[in-house]
Amino acid sequence: MKMIELGDSGEKIPVLGLGTWKLGADPEGNIEALRLGIRLGMRLVDTAEMYANEEIVGRAIEGQEIFLCTKVSPDHFRYDDVIKACDRSLRKLGRKQIDLYQLHWPNTSVPISETMRAMERLVDDGKIRYIGVSNFSIDEAIEAQEAMKRYKIVSNQVEYNILSRSIEDGLADFCKYEKMTAIAYSPLARGVLFDQKHRALARLLEEIGRAHGKSPGQVALNWILSRGNVVAIPKAASAEHVRENAGAADFELSAKELGEIGDFLKTHPQEKPLSSRLTPAVKKSSTIWAKLMRYREGLRNRRG
Ligand code: NAP
Repeated sequence: MKMIELGDSGEKIPVLGLGTWKLGADPEGNIEALRLGIRLGMRLVDTAEMYANEEIVGRAIEGQEIFLCTKVSPDHFRYDDVIKACDRSLRKLGRKQIDLYQLHWPNTSVPISETMRAMERLVDDGKIRYIGVSNFSIDEAIEAQEAMKRYKIVSNQVEYNILSRSIEDGLADFCKYEKMTAIAYSPLARGVLFDQKHRALARLLEEIGRAHGKSPGQVALNWILSRGNVVAIPKAASAEHVRENAGAADFELSAKELGEIGDFLKTHPQEKPLSSRLTPAVKKSSTIWAKLMRYREGLRNRRG
């Protein structure tokens, strides 16, 4: 499996991991599917306390060498609640340490400084290795980073797929610039990609895939990876889907093929992202860059 660096941490993670949202209804089958993915090299597993499946994930990863990601829910962003939520997740997952602990969603009713103080404490105590955020706009990521004294935010988990590309309006560039890995959730648009209404896109992906011996889904996942600084975490309950997804990173789309897809997407309607609240937050690139520059200037001044 192809690997990339997580943020600028020096840690290498696979470009394809295993999403787990909605896994849990068929524990034995789900465990089998996750273990298959792990065997096939998708050695990054993403869950969340909100998914209520950490015990099942814990059983699936028992004895496995994987990069484990989970998330604290926004209603647990008070200092003590973050610590307790992490302890609970560790217990359920059957691990002594979480590799990447992410804030699932911003919560403006709790001061971000309080939440980030707890996250830093968790690193100091060895309960988590890296701090990440999810569904954070540029402003929110800057605020969260500025609230920390000792550690860097290494990732932002956001919705990104060939049908929902709002992160391209500035957030993706910000992540590259700040060396935060973008973890693409819903990379198959929750399956909508295969709906009748996107048949024309599926046909193009199928045609391009034929030259590589790959399926439309594999081309769609590979397209995400081709953007750089991105890891994708498709969820699949069926072994067939897991196998297919695991085979999405071992080829490269040519510049011509990427151009064809890009041209097609110019006129193809995007799907409303799950996180549509992000779209208004991602303002015009110029505003974003101006903010970013002010932020970097501030950092430079503080470091002297
Ligand atoms: P997704 O991975 O885009 O799509 C999952 C759907 O696609 C399932 O119905 C799955 O079916 C189907 N599928 C998987 N592989 C396929 C293939 N090769 N061909 C055809 N269909 C395929 O959607 P997601 O679950 O929303 O996103 C992935 C992960 O991202 C989640 O599981 C979760 O870990 C994370 N996530 C995070 C957030 C957040 O707020 N941070 C939000 C949403 C998701 P089967 O299951 O039947 O195989």
